[in-house]
Amino acid sequence: MLNRLVVPRRYDRDVRIDLHTHSNRSDGTDPVPDLVAHARAAGLDVLALTDHDTADGWAEGRTAAEAEAIGFVPGIEISCKVGTTSIHLLAYLADPSYEPLAAELAHVREGRTGRVPGMVERLNRLGIRITVEDVLAQATGTPSVGRPHVADALVALGAVADRKEAFDRFLAEGRPAHVQRYAIEPGRAIELVRAAGGVPVVAHPWGRGSRAVLTADEIGRLVAEHGLAGLEVDHQDHDAADRAALREIAAAHDLIVTGSSDHHGVGKTDHDLGCNTTAPDQFEALLAVAKLNAASSSAVPPEAYLP
Ligand code: AMP
Ligand code: FE
Ligand code: FE
Ligand code: ZN
Repeated sequence: MLNRLVVPRRYDRDVRIDLHTHSNRSDGTDPVPDLVAHARAAGLDVLALTDHDTADGWAEGRTAAEAEAIGFVPGIEISCKVGTTSIHLLAYLADPSYEPLAAELAHVREGRTGRVPGMVERLNRLGIRITVEDVLAQATGTPSVGRPHVADALVALGAVADRKEAFDRFLAEGRPAHVQRYAIEPGRAIELVRAAGGVPVVAHPWGRGSRAVLTADEIGRLVAEHGLAGLEVDHQDHDAADRAALREIAAAHDLIVTGSSDHHGVGKTDHDLGCNTTAPDQFEALLAVAKLNAASSSAVPPEAYLP
């Protein structure tokens, strides 16, 4: 059904839609207005802001988007996990003040920030002189202090060259300074997003080890039992074969297919704005699902700004 919606005239032309980006309200390096300006300069027509577990940048994003006359879709990338494997769920147009969702997001943020002292202690034991204050100095304007900020502090101290080296040597799962934290069970997160009037899309389903838990069967179960609406197929974590296989899984379940940069400013290389984009008909399908979910929700979901 979803993929057979008629595309309205607005999107007859070749529009460029990037549905996954981060600002410094989470672990991107750009303030929201700069991110929006960069999106405009990169030739994007529609941008979604999807900071980790927070909607803090939305108001500023919308204002900047109006000034730049670029489409703006408010989103959140929600931290989930299956066992110890991290899964990210993109929530588009969900009401972040819907209490059950707001409570879970607060729990996730507390868990992320609460493990910073533990990571610092492990790094100290490894002989690296880093303090919690060093980490907080890298995290200005975010309610969600995480591993990328620890990585930035390690860069500032000269212990590593970049974020990637910090993760590879110390912070990634299985590395010596890694500390587990709370994250939401994906089925529950999907249901919360829908109840909040939003559209749940799994981010980079086969990136960084999540392939082992997000099998075709498990994706099918998330659709049938919880109402998953889409898959982020075109992402830098997926090679051509992954993309083809994920596209088939999406087709089998009539899922929306998105493509995005997962831009983090200078925090991640090879994730330039617009490096992957979402097809206009898929974006229209996403907006249609948002409308349906909003209509059946007691929450007050935001609207996309589309000039
Ligand atoms: P946290 O939420 O504190 O667990 O940190 C997770 C975030 O760290 C992800 O959203 C990514 O932006 C970033 N990240 C995870 N793994 C890596 C990596 N290997 N290199 C660079 N950034 C990473
Ligand atoms: Fe991130
Ligand atoms: Fe992610
Ligand atoms: Zn992301």
